[in-house]
Amino acid sequence: MGNDVKMGSLASSFIFAIPALPNKGDQMWFFTDEERELKEVCHSFAQNELAPSAAEHDENESFNLDAFKKMGELGLLGITADPEYGGSGLGACASTIVMEEFGAACASSTLSYLAHTILTVNNINNNASPEQKERFLPKLISGEWIGCMGMSEPEHGSDALGIETKAVKQGDYYLINGTKMWITNAEYSDIAYIYARTGEKKKDISTFIVEKGCEGFSTAGPIHKLGMRASPTGELIFDNAKIPVSNIVGNPGDSTYHMLKNLEMERITISGISLGIANACVDQSLRYANERKQFGRPIGDFQMIQRMIAEMVTERDMMKHFLYSVTKEYDQGKKGPTVAAEIKLALPKMATKIALDTIQLMGGYGYSREFPAERYLRDSKLNEIGAGTNEIMVLIIAKNMLKKYQNQ
Ligand SMILES: Cc1cc2nc3c(=O)[nH]c(=O)nc-3n(C[C@H](O)[C@H](O)[C@H](O)COP(=O)(O)OP(=O)(O)OC[C@H]3O[C@@H](n4cnc5c(N)ncnc54)[C@H](O)[C@@H]3O)c2cc1C
Repeated sequence: MGNDVKMGSLASSFIFAIPALPNKGDQMWFFTDEERELKEVCHSFAQNELAPSAAEHDENESFNLDAFKKMGELGLLGITADPEYGGSGLGACASTIVMEEFGAACASSTLSYLAHTILTVNNINNNASPEQKERFLPKLISGEWIGCMGMSEPEHGSDALGIETKAVKQGDYYLINGTKMWITNAEYSDIAYIYARTGEKKKDISTFIVEKGCEGFSTAGPIHKLGMRASPTGELIFDNAKIPVSNIVGNPGDSTYHMLKNLEMERITISGISLGIANACVDQSLRYANERKQFGRPIGDFQMIQRMIAEMVTERDMMKHFLYSVTKEYDQGKKGPTVAAEIKLALPKMATKIALDTIQLMGGYGYSREFPAERYLRDSKLNEIGAGTNEIMVLIIAKNMLKKYQNQ
């Protein structure tokens, strides 16, 4: 074969040679001391609690419940929630730091973390009444309860405002009928934050907090997926589900703004997972290029491999600087939906390209399940679909920018 090392022994030597987690991503110069410390803490948590079992959970399509509970003990499950309910009161930048560090170790556990903290806890914190916050937030933040958010339906994904799940008021209850599809954490959730139609107009959308075990409510799943396999995905089924009036969030028909606003946070923070995946890919590629020899030299000596490395490092650095500088401005109220869509359009696509290049750089070993590169690719692809597809991001950016110039 002309190799310095036989293929089988090379593969097994790499299994031990590659550490469980890549070097932690750089701190940004503008991070606060608190954010720097958060990055360090999340890096070692990811190293110890997520990375070692990431491949196993992917293989078995199992949820890392232990790690989730420990995130609660560390105080990470209420990262954006108000301190009076047990939260940390931090913003998009801090949340993205967690996503980056966790995402490099186990992207799918991170997706479940995102569904809990950003889609459920953040939504309740921003939109629910003080009484509802008191009832739901402390248990969600401690990790005693798991949450999910139900917006998508079998017939309405990109067209989120077209949802058909209906809620009709009957005395002290709303009767809800319909199905929510693709719901991260569905089967594990103690509560679901869901949207349902309460009127005839397109914008007559209301929010309800649905508690596990309530009459007429059930879940189905798991849905088997290409990637993000350690993140359980399922359905929420409402068959004359009886939801107390006290569980409606805000005024009936007032939820469209809240829904769209939280999607901005979701799009920014899910892109942090893409950055984490890119970090893991770059790390894997650099190690491999130095260690793997062909024609008597490390493959990193070959200029075509160097080109791949140079491009992926440059793209990863662009992702990082774009994501964090905009996220900081978002926290300061200077940026909104257009830039959240830009981030979401750019980063997941770049991460998928970097993951593909990582596989190419590693040849057959990259394509094999002995190395994590193929998992990075499978996980990365989801971020081009969930939280709004690439195509929907294009529509948002183009529409908003064209409108801006029409008014000038
Ligand atoms: C693993 C996973 C986890 C998820 N978690 C959640 C969750 O926790 N909660 C939740 O509510 N949802 C969740 N989703 C749903 C996700 O948000 C939707 O899958 C996504 O919005 C796309 O909807 P869809 O799958 O119905 O695709 P569709 O909307 O049917 O789109 C199909 C294709 O048509 C394109 N398309 C659609 N409309 C247009 C248009 N106007 N112009 C051009 N192209 C268009 C799309 O870009 C796509 O390529 C999850 C999905 C997955 C796969």
